[in-house]
Parts: sequence; C-alpha cells; structure tokens
Amino acid sequence: MPNRPRNIDSYYRPHVRELEPYVPPEALEILAYRAGLDPAHASKLDFNENPYGPSPRVMEALASMTNVHLYPDPIAGELREELAAYTGMDPEEILIGSGADELISLVVSVFVEPGDAVVDLTPTYSMYGGVTLQHAGRVVHVPRGDDWKVDVPAVLAEIERGAKIVWVCSPNNPTGGLATEEEIMPLLETGAPMVLDEAYFEFSRHTFAPLIRMYPNLIVLRTFSKLAGLAGLRIAYMLANRDILGQAHKVKLPFNTTLAGQVAATAALRDRAYLAANLDALLAERQRLVTLLREQGELNPYPSNANFLLCRTSGDAPGASPAHLRRQTRGH
Ligand SMILES: *Cc1c(COP(=O)(O)O)cnc(C)c1O
Repeated sequence: MPNRPRNIDSYYRPHVRELEPYVPPEALEILAYRAGLDPAHASKLDFNENPYGPSPRVMEALASMTNVHLYPDPIAGELREELAAYTGMDPEEILIGSGADELISLVVSVFVEPGDAVVDLTPTYSMYGGVTLQHAGRVVHVPRGDDWKVDVPAVLAEIERGAKIVWVCSPNNPTGGLATEEEIMPLLETGAPMVLDEAYFEFSRHTFAPLIRMYPNLIVLRTFSKLAGLAGLRIAYMLANRDILGQAHKVKLPFNTTLAGQVAATAALRDRAYLAANLDALLAERQRLVTLLREQGELNPYPSNANFLLCRTSGDAPGASPAHLRRQTRGH
C-alpha cells in the first residue's frame, strides 16, 4: 500500500499562500450599464491608458511583421538603439522589459531577500508593495505629508534600518506631483538603491535620468503603456548603470518581451511627430477636464503632471479622502 499522498497545501510556499490575488476592476460595459449610460459614450480612465492609441505607423509595422515563428531578440538591440537616441543614454544603460511591472519585479529579484524591507511613499503605485510581497519581502509604507511631500527623515531612518529599495514615483500615481531634488538627493546620497518610476515623465517634461551617471544606485523606469499607447503589448524600459543592468540580465527571462512589443515600440519612437501631437492633445484635454471639474465644484482636482487627475471631494465620499488614500495604495 502506498502512503497516503500528502495534501498539496503542505507544499506551497507560506508567503504565497498569504498573498491576495489581483482583482481587476469591472468592465466598462458593466459600469456603464449600472450607471444607466451608453457604453459607446463612456470612457475608461482608471488605467491611465492613452485613448487615442499609437501612431498609424505602429499599426503598419505590426501588420508587416515577419519572423513571428522565431524567438525575439532577447536584448531588443534595435529598440535599445532607438531608445538611446530618445533618452540620451547608452544602449548598455537600457534594459527592455515586458511592461514596467515586470521591471519592478526584476529590481526586487536583484535586491530583496526574504524578510528584507523596501520603502514606498503612500499613496503611490501599488505594485511596488505587491511585487515585494510576491518575493517574500516586507513593505514599509512611509506616508506623504501635506501637499503629498515626502517625509525624508522617516525614509532616511528606514534606510538606516536596512531597507533595500526606496520606490519613488514621479509624477506620482495617483497624486500627480513631481518628486523634487530636495526630496531625492539626501536619499540618493545614502547609496541605497532608489527606483524612480517615470511612467508618466513625458506628460511632465521632467526627468531625473541624467543623475544615473552620478549615482550608481539610481534606477529609472519608463513605459510605452501611457503616452505611446501600447499598454496591450507590454513593453517598457529600465535606465541604470551597466553594473545594475548586468545583475538584472541574470535574473531576467531570456525572451521576456514579444517581437510585437519590440516592433511596435521601435515604430512608435520613429514617429516623434505623432508622439508630440498626442502629448499636446492629452495635455489640452487634461486642462479642459480640470476647468470643467472646477466649474462643477463637486470634485476638486489636485494639480497634475501626468495624464490623470486626483480629486478631492467636497462632500462625504468614503474611500476618497486624503486620509484614506494615505492608508490605501492605489491599484492599476
Ligand atoms: C501604469 C504604471 C506602470 C505600469 O506600466 P506597464 O509598463 O504597463 O507595466 C508602472 N508604474 C506606474 C506608476 C504606472 O502608473
């Protein structure tokens, strides 16, 4: 008689069993139906996607794609050349990922041992914490203060206690503000790894990427999901010095991005005029919405350097007060 098989439960990693699954929000059609709206006249804004989509040249490049029967270039050489021109960095300072979310996970793989702490600055993008928990790390939320200012002494204290990574989102999702030099310089000076998530940098026309040459602990993340309109193709990039990228290459899956993603991103960068026109259109729409909301008076938008707005409600809206936001990190 064989022994009774052991229950699968006893094999799971304990920290995985503790994780909460990702629950996507409800489909636009369902929300529109509930609100009594025609879905054709409803816009889905909560993922900060680009409603105008990518350049027609991107669609042409995708349609004429050959070699889909072959594995893609593991280091996306052509796209990195194009990005070198776009960012002013060397191709060796660029690593391509399957969305910024994959790159967040890659950074955690490089630095975080089970039990290690990382710091995020709440309210902020939820994936820094979520991915850290997937890797059995600990998340220390340092709440932002008035005007969403970073509590620099509190972050310095956490670095002193051994925190492995400081996550700074600029412009910050969901508050829309930019990090300042006064906030990030003292943190960079400690030598602890800092990730600046610049998913929305084009909307702010501001970047900290040049600091990479002075601070070997700085990593900048950017994506084609927002301005470039390629969220469905999962393509993004990391800027950092060769040392960090060398480590990241060792934990990256060889074929982490798709051929379609590489082709589309390369074509997007080759149509700068479209990107620039799209940026102008989105900034104009953002301003139009701010003006309309201010007139309407129920939702008071904070200043935004990105393609989304965070609003303070004038009435009682459980779940939307700043105090609540400080406790809750925002999902996608
Ligand atoms: C949308 C978003 C991402 C994710 O980008 P992907 O490239 O689509 O994975 C990362 N960081 C922030 C702050 C975001 O808002």
